[in-house]
Amino acid sequence: MKSYFTPVSGNLPPASTGEGRAPRGAPKAIVIGSGFGGLAAAIRLSARGWHVEVLEKLDGPGGRAYVWKQDGFSFDAGPTIVTVPHLLEELWALCGRKLSDDVELRPMDPFYRIRFDDGSWFDYSGDPEHMRAEVARFDPDDVAGYERFLDEAALCYRLGFEKLGARAFDSIGDLLAAAPDLARMRGWRSIFDMVCGHLRNEKLRVAMSFHPLLIGGNPLSVTCVYSLINTLERRFGVHWAMGGTGALIRGMVRLLAERGVAVRCNAEVKRIVVEGGRATGVELADGSVQRADIVVSNADTAWTYKHLIAPEHRRHWSDRRIERGRYSMSLFVWYFGTKRRYDDVPHHMMLLGPRYEELLTDIFKRHHLAEDFSLYLHRPSATDPSVAPAGHDAFYVLAPVPHLDSGTDWAVQAEPYRRAIEARLEATVLPGLREQIVTSRVTTPQDFHDRLLSYKGAAFGLEPLLLQSAWFRPHNRSEDVAGLFMVGASTHPGAGVPGVLMSAKALEKVIPHVEQFA
Ligand SMILES: Cc1cc2nc3c(=O)[nH]c(=O)nc-3n(C[C@H](O)[C@H](O)[C@H](O)COP(=O)(O)OP(=O)(O)OC[C@H]3O[C@@H](n4cnc5c(N)ncnc54)[C@H](O)[C@@H]3O)c2cc1C
Repeated sequence: MKSYFTPVSGNLPPASTGEGRAPRGAPKAIVIGSGFGGLAAAIRLSARGWHVEVLEKLDGPGGRAYVWKQDGFSFDAGPTIVTVPHLLEELWALCGRKLSDDVELRPMDPFYRIRFDDGSWFDYSGDPEHMRAEVARFDPDDVAGYERFLDEAALCYRLGFEKLGARAFDSIGDLLAAAPDLARMRGWRSIFDMVCGHLRNEKLRVAMSFHPLLIGGNPLSVTCVYSLINTLERRFGVHWAMGGTGALIRGMVRLLAERGVAVRCNAEVKRIVVEGGRATGVELADGSVQRADIVVSNADTAWTYKHLIAPEHRRHWSDRRIERGRYSMSLFVWYFGTKRRYDDVPHHMMLLGPRYEELLTDIFKRHHLAEDFSLYLHRPSATDPSVAPAGHDAFYVLAPVPHLDSGTDWAVQAEPYRRAIEARLEATVLPGLREQIVTSRVTTPQDFHDRLLSYKGAAFGLEPLLLQSAWFRPHNRSEDVAGLFMVGASTHPGAGVPGVLMSAKALEKVIPHVEQFA
């Protein structure tokens, strides 16, 4: 069994054709980081006439959506579930292109299978009749409550996503304007409380409330506004990008290249230069300084403020305030390839363990690494033959785990934890797994900290609690430094590919017009 990886590097698109280049003398924007949010921001800035450069610490673009290639397998490191395709289509349209010309998004049916600890399962899909039948299979008396839950989730979608999602929440006025909508959604309830108000069956309560985990939130404490995810999925579908999520990243980098925007890899920013209270450029790890008219950070906001900006420039985001924040869980991810195929395993599967509320409390509140776990198993080769050699399967399995406040020494714990997951998979859905593995690699919370520079190794930035959302989340226009902007998971609106693409839209509302620099 090999246990090393070769990252995908040198696979950036060919040189720019020059189309859509910024005019001579255009003001310059530096974007720190090439996650979905950073690339979307760069596209939007470039379309508005900025001269843009993206600086990326890693040797390839994508951030959490980086791609690992090993032994003929291709592993998307992070996002696998693509929802709200129109947010991507908008970016392609801004560049005069069509997303479908570059990347095929294939709808998933069912979206995913939720397997409970007793071996029963719920197939979650976008087909209303099928969903009602699945709910009735578990508890016919819950069908009416399920319909009421859908109505509430749809209200949260209309108010929380359509109306408030791309608003920048730049001032207290924005918050006050949103207050009536928050009240209509009764946003102070947790999503679990909301679901329990409608459904009696324990398993259905889990199936309808786990969605915030996809964006780093504890269903027991995040606002019920996030039930909008449920509506998003049903309205726009769940898709797989053929070639892997990395195909979307490569497509975005190609759009930028065509506009003359470089994505410079192996370029870690060590410091944001602040002069007279204004960001005027960045200093790189090699000591060189790049000047810019504005700086947009796609790096974790807590890390950006704490490590890239000297404390004397931070009245709002002091170290104390950053430390007081509540951060999302982290993830343990095991990527592996097998020399046989497991054709009865669907593309997306949740394998729930014996505990739900108690496990969530261990992860989010006690910061305790429990012995049991709930898993998300990803088998892209179910849909896409390009990700594994013929006759093989590519997988990743992830377990939500506490962030680094758990004190876990992952250098020691990673292998026993991986083995425990392997045993669980072998006993449930992947018989004989151990003998079939031909390639393997893990990512731990320590890697989120060391490699992706995420504060406390949190996988999704700040936890999406009501008092850490919208105006309470780090603003897209920095509260502390003029000319500094934030995009990505830990600013407004939040984590997940749709969230970070929306953050680039929110950013557009607060960046200055290029004419101001003429
Ligand atoms: C395992 C996993 C699975 C997920 N699954 C899904 C899913 O199925 N669907 C979904 O919608 N979402 C999913 N998510 C969430 C989603 O991937 C993220 O919320 C989103 O991709 C984050 O994008 P971002 O723009 O915030 O930037 P990130 O992807 O966090 O990228 C930030 C970039 O900034 C770079 N950087 C940081 N500091 C510096 C510096 N000082 N100098 C230069 N560069 C720097 C980093 O190297 C990184 O490339 C998943 C996340 C994980 C971890």
